[in-house]
Amino acid sequence: MKGVPMTEALPVATVRTQVNVPLRFPDGYATTARVFTFDGLVDGREHLAMGLGDLFDAGRSVPLVRPHSECLTGDVFGSQRCDCGPQLREAVERIADVGGYVLYLRQEGRGIGLYSKLDAYALQDTGLDTYEANLALGHAEDERDYTAAAQMLRALGVERLAVLSNNPDKTVQLDRLGLTVTEQVPTGVFLSPANARYLAAKARRQVPYPRSSVA
Ligand SMILES: [Zn+2]
Repeated sequence: MKGVPMTEALPVATVRTQVNVPLRFPDGYATTARVFTFDGLVDGREHLAMGLGDLFDAGRSVPLVRPHSECLTGDVFGSQRCDCGPQLREAVERIADVGGYVLYLRQEGRGIGLYSKLDAYALQDTGLDTYEANLALGHAEDERDYTAAAQMLRALGVERLAVLSNNPDKTVQLDRLGLTVTEQVPTGVFLSPANARYLAAKARRQVPYPRSSVA
């Protein structure tokens, strides 16, 4: 792994360690992740990159990358208030199939933190949507920042990538940070009675990224 020259916008981070971790999901799907840690990330948080599949797959010129924001309740406990758990599960398999990375970003609750996210859930139970609830708590609608994600990709030697996400903000931010996003690949939609309002609010607030395309 080799760093790239520092640009004004993006301080250099370096790979700190890498180690294989065998994964098995509750539905039995199993694969092995190459887990990378980093030095020099701007926010000082312990973000991970999980390398999946054949990272040098000749059939795909750019890695498929999912920037996934940590969601303790959804990723770990299977909360049905959001669709994070199924999205993470889908991303691991789709990326393992073609080669790429899950960037597991420690920005819980759209960046507002775990306790605030739970406070926002309580407000949502009074009728606010996920964005209005964040505003009522004095936060921005979405405080996620992908600078560390861009640093991690640079440290991994990734300059061009396909982004696996329905959220155009991720692509816009990575683009602005100097990476080349060749396509945005949509994820599945995981609807349940408990997350229907959440997903509807997400769909209302997001403007489609102009270069959206299907893999
Ligand atoms: Zn979630």
